[in-house]
Amino acid sequence: MAIHPRPLVLLGATGSIGQSTLDLLPRYPQRFEVFAASANTRGKELAGIIRAHGVQRFALVEEKARKAFAEANPDLREGLAASGGEGILQLLAEAPADALVVNGLVGAAGLQPTVAALSRGLDVALANKEALVVGGELVLEAAQRGKATLWPVDSEHSAIAQCLRAAGPSELRRIWLTASGGPFRDTRPEDLKNVSLEQVLDHPNWDMGPKITVDSATMMNKGLEVIEAKLLFGLELRDVQVVLHRQSIVHSMIELQDGAFLAQLGTPDMRLPILYALSGGEHWATNFPSLDPLSMGSLDFEAPDLRRYPCLGLARAAAEAGGSAPLVLNAANEEAVAGLLRGELSFVEIAPLIERALQSLSGPAAGSIPEALERDAATRRMVRSWITS
Ligand code: MG
Repeated sequence: MAIHPRPLVLLGATGSIGQSTLDLLPRYPQRFEVFAASANTRGKELAGIIRAHGVQRFALVEEKARKAFAEANPDLREGLAASGGEGILQLLAEAPADALVVNGLVGAAGLQPTVAALSRGLDVALANKEALVVGGELVLEAAQRGKATLWPVDSEHSAIAQCLRAAGPSELRRIWLTASGGPFRDTRPEDLKNVSLEQVLDHPNWDMGPKITVDSATMMNKGLEVIEAKLLFGLELRDVQVVLHRQSIVHSMIELQDGAFLAQLGTPDMRLPILYALSGGEHWATNFPSLDPLSMGSLDFEAPDLRRYPCLGLARAAAEAGGSAPLVLNAANEEAVAGLLRGELSFVEIAPLIERALQSLSGPAAGSIPEALERDAATRRMVRSWITS
């Protein structure tokens, strides 16, 4: 029997998640076809992907990049959608009903596409944790309305989902998200004021995009993941624990009512959680280097020091406060990270900026996407003005 290849919509095709997804596809011939792909600015790379994978519809978010793309690739003009968020929504509206959307977008910009895809019944493999942090309830409602499945692509959440195959919700006591601790896990908190951007971007275990790499150094990434896990698995905040595990071999653990622990272990390779989502929750064969228990050595677990990682404490406080606090936390963090990457801000200035935003800008939860986007934009404007003043 011929297999009908599943159409994919790759949002953020030229980024780290998009590239890892594209690396997987030729290994599973006939399983998938790339129906649509989007990129932010990298038109040349996008054109390469379109030609290599026979992509039918595509979007470049940045207007200037879109223009340059159309000029350089006259034969591809027909498949080119509009610029801006509008173009991404066009791809989602035109995707076949059985398409799987791989959302590798960065930041709150991924919220609207996530909700649009789920509302129309498209399953989403979500690497874009900010979408859940900013619009948690809106995303979950959209999945329910569209009867669509949300597959976590984050390695920790994929690990939890894999462990949960062995236990029902009533058997679960709590979950334990593991964190590598990033490049500064052995740096004294008082020495963090001297770290360079180069050191921030030098992650010891994972090779990822710049935004998430900075978030790993502050451990805001884990903070966002706590909020993500609370929503995805319907847990109380106190039942989402974080443990520092420097080897990044245990990707997360669940603790059951009788005290038993189940853990998912593997090499730190983002292709694996992506593959688990693409397969619809199956363990397909790979030829990747596998884990050798005999050379694993010891596995360490420690409590994260909140003096070293104040952003983790801020994220938990925002989750506890609820309302628009997670949205404000995320918007302030995105602006702070952008400021750091532009050299306008030092590493230790990130947390105080987010704390100030949480204290002065949090309010009730946004009830709609336009409202969420409006508050996101207002928070960003304010935080930007603090950075440049
Ligand atoms: Mg993660």
